[in-house]
Amino acid sequence: MPEVYNWQLGRKMAYLYPEVRPQRQAGAVFDTNKCIACQTCTVACKTTWTSGKGQEYMFWNNVESKPWGSYPLAYDAKILEKLGAQNWDGDVYAGKTIFEAAPEGERVLGYLPNDLDYAYPNKGEDETNTTVDSEKYHLRLPHDAWFFYLPRICNHCTYPACLGACPRTAIFKRPEDGIVLTDEQRCRGYRECVRACPYKKVMYNHVTRISEKCVLCFPAVEKGFLTRCMRTCIGKIRTFGWVNPPEKADPENPLDFLVHVRKVARPLLPQMGTEPNVYYIPPIHVENQRFLRMLFGPGATESVETYRNAMEGNDPELLGVLVLNVASDRIISKFKVQGETATGWDDQGNVVATVPLKEPTMVRPQFDPSVAVYRYNIT
Ligand code: SF4
Ligand code: SF4
Repeated sequence: MPEVYNWQLGRKMAYLYPEVRPQRQAGAVFDTNKCIACQTCTVACKTTWTSGKGQEYMFWNNVESKPWGSYPLAYDAKILEKLGAQNWDGDVYAGKTIFEAAPEGERVLGYLPNDLDYAYPNKGEDETNTTVDSEKYHLRLPHDAWFFYLPRICNHCTYPACLGACPRTAIFKRPEDGIVLTDEQRCRGYRECVRACPYKKVMYNHVTRISEKCVLCFPAVEKGFLTRCMRTCIGKIRTFGWVNPPEKADPENPLDFLVHVRKVARPLLPQMGTEPNVYYIPPIHVENQRFLRMLFGPGATESVETYRNAMEGNDPELLGVLVLNVASDRIISKFKVQGETATGWDDQGNVVATVPLKEPTMVRPQFDPSVAVYRYNIT
């Protein structure tokens, strides 16, 4: 297998094809501290893309509760178990990726989920990871009992396992924006992509008999707009845009700033080796740092500290880029914080969002002499 460089692993690794990076790569950062699991993103995606026959159980965007939730059932536990215990040596991954650990005669280490694994998304979720059976857990911070929400879409990986595994070369990565798509004419429904994707973000349609996946709303992205799941995000947790490899990081680009400059956002399960392009700001209330490092790599604890520091008012630039999340339906490719205001520009240099770092608070006088009434500030 050819050798390619995976910066998330800090080393070269084996992949099915030589390294070819797109002209620019679409990506996103999700702030897990702000997700409220309203599932608006899930429904926005569902009604846009997967309301057809054979797509009934498909959620290209799903939101699961960690540590117990998953869609399809136990996808992460299953692939981690198959991969076996692996180690990091500082920031360098010393273990095997799913490409390097592929069994003899197979392209990628994976497994095919059972149809029923997709049948009960969110069942048994929103429960803490220990039994809340004593007073000690009530009204005490930080929590002993914790969970958090993890929204997930296809990561439009730099080294997609789905693409590498397809014997029909029916999956391709667009050179202009790095979006990974399936050619439905070429696909014969072998499901090798479903087996290979460690995030299980390719799904098989039993009616059309082809595999289908998130298309990152490419018609919107081509016109400079956010995807449906990003645009509708109630919690404004999502930054969408373009992400460069670290050596080409532009500090004025929101994604590069979050991923490479402040290093507050980390990839999901980087040890798989696909170099995913959706990044996560880890939750700050989770006591079990080992769990966070397993999920988001060795830098997860450092990211938590960086985020806390910003929330305490010590990093206006980081706060600024985060308040611009979903402040516009246009893709923001450049940002700046000046004084108390964050500004975002699109690709053409137009200002598309201006947001104060702190929401102004208005307290109305209780008595309004103009209409001679007393008012209560109840909102
Ligand atoms: S997340 Fe899965 S489906 Fe998406 S590009 Fe990566 S390997 Fe392919
Ligand atoms: S819309 Fe946003 S806040 Fe709501 S579940 Fe999706 S990611 Fe979380």
